[in-house]
Amino acid sequence: MDAKAVAAEIVQSAKEAAKKMHITTMTVEVGQFATISVPDLAKEIALLLPFSSVDIEEKKARVKCGCGFEGAPEIQTSGAEGTPDFSCPKCKKKYPQVLEGDSVELKDIEVE
Ligand SMILES: [Zn+2]
Repeated sequence: MDAKAVAAEIVQSAKEAAKKMHITTMTVEVGQFATISVPDLAKEIALLLPFSSVDIEEKKARVKCGCGFEGAPEIQTSGAEGTPDFSCPKCKKKYPQVLEGDSVELKDIEVE
């Protein structure tokens, strides 16, 4: 993911939600599997909204597997770059379907 493009998208939704009021704080949720650098994202948001503060929270990934398992995956490696290596903790199958935790979302804004 490109931090600049994601930041632009998040700031755009925050501005729409704020309806011309000043955004004091925005909370952004970054999925555990989102292939983005959190410091870069924070920096790009700060460039677009210099008078707002940004809280970035990590959202844990959730997967669904063919064996019936649904929940937190077993993670072998994870990093800002590339897709992490993960599997089903129950049957050890690689890369079960990701239900959540692979995107960056605007969670909340505070305005005044
Ligand atoms: Zn499984």
